[in-house]
Amino acid sequence: MNLKYIKNMKRKYQICTNCVMDTTDSKITFDKNGVCDHCNNFYENILPNWHTDEKGWLSLQEIAKKIKKEGQGKEFDCMVGMSGGVDSSYLLYLAKEKLGLRPLVFSVDTGWNTQLAVNNIKKLTNKLDLKLHTKVINWEEMRDLQLAFFKASVSHIDWPQDHAIFASIYNFATKHKIKYILTGANYSTECIKNPMEWTYMGSDLVQLKDIHNKFAQKPLVKYPTTNILKHKVYLRYFKGIKVIKPLNYVPYIKEDAIKFLVDKFGWEKYPQKHFESKFTKFYEGYWLPKKFGYDTRRVQFSSLIVTKQMTRKEALEKLSQSSYDKNTIAQDFEYIATKLGISVKKLQGYMDLPNKSYKDYKSQLNLFILGTKLMRLFGLERRTIR
Ligand SMILES: [Zn+2]
Repeated sequence: MNLKYIKNMKRKYQICTNCVMDTTDSKITFDKNGVCDHCNNFYENILPNWHTDEKGWLSLQEIAKKIKKEGQGKEFDCMVGMSGGVDSSYLLYLAKEKLGLRPLVFSVDTGWNTQLAVNNIKKLTNKLDLKLHTKVINWEEMRDLQLAFFKASVSHIDWPQDHAIFASIYNFATKHKIKYILTGANYSTECIKNPMEWTYMGSDLVQLKDIHNKFAQKPLVKYPTTNILKHKVYLRYFKGIKVIKPLNYVPYIKEDAIKFLVDKFGWEKYPQKHFESKFTKFYEGYWLPKKFGYDTRRVQFSSLIVTKQMTRKEALEKLSQSSYDKNTIAQDFEYIATKLGISVKKLQGYMDLPNKSYKDYKSQLNLFILGTKLMRLFGLERRTIR
């Protein structure tokens, strides 16, 4: 861990004795045994309500039955948002082969997809004989919006991609009257979430527009948008669109899933979670840890530790290694700058700007907090979000 961040931290450095979350999450708390609140939330709220045994499988079959019934006579009965990563790839197999669903596979081309991801998506859809729809985001608007986020100097510069993907899926489902969206989101590899100060939340359209207004040069015409009220309330309760997370109902072990996909589909592995996109690889592997001291591997490994897929020792060992490849970083840096249409010097200039946070721009945070409180009250959200 970079010394600069330890010095800048207002509190004494501490790391959880159970997982590898630490005070780089500034709001983390520890109990008397040194176990963090992410871990305690997992053991108290998630684990007791998470059923991947017969009970889970029966509930998932019930859901599948309903999806099939409502989809009768339609070309597709659901849609699967596909990044080509392990979660969405395994989900696709599960949906088609195990549940007998007829999903439309939906992928979003933000301009940054790696060839590996594109190949994996093709392999899966071809072998499962499914129809693939790819939504291509207008590159000029995307590029301009990404640059605006760099200029805003916030830590959540991956938002323009996230928001476009998220919005495209919802907009497509609404337009084509598809009632069920299946996502690869899951407790097994994501039960601990990135703290809000690291990546904020991609659905805050007010913040996106504020940053766009202040720093962008082009209007957003073709760029797809959604907002929290639209997808959490209007689409869910008025349009009846439901989001299902099938991976939470079955045993889902990341390494086993990877091995299965490799053997069955010739799927190829990525070096790290979220590395399907060249931008996300650069962002999570280099920009975020280097500029802000936030290492998303901590969150990913901690999820794997509490779900017994990785030991703490193994995680610490991996964290002691650099999150990016030192031999290729200069090249990667240049690639990102060139693709964004700016010089290496200019990109370095954004790196050197004083860091800002989501609190420095307009937001819908209060609405989001209220929504999360309500969802936790009704047991719809069990992960710690802050
Ligand atoms: Zn912990």
